[in-house]
Amino acid sequence: MVSIRCDDCGFDCDYSVSGDLEQVVFAYWNHMANEHGIEYSPETLGRYVKKKIPQSVHAS
Ligand SMILES: [Zn+2]
Repeated sequence: MVSIRCDDCGFDCDYSVSGDLEQVVFAYWNHMANEHGIEYSPETLGRYVKKKIPQSVHAS
């Protein structure tokens, strides 16, 4: 499971989402478009979310 927080991305916003990587990318992409009017490409957002995944996810 991964999670992302909108304020980690530099927004003054308390939105956060967690779940499977694809769900998180999709939900956050939707949030960005609907709440902030920013349409990142899914590829860009996917790379960003992957960078945010804690190392512990890979350690198991
Ligand atoms: Zn936000």
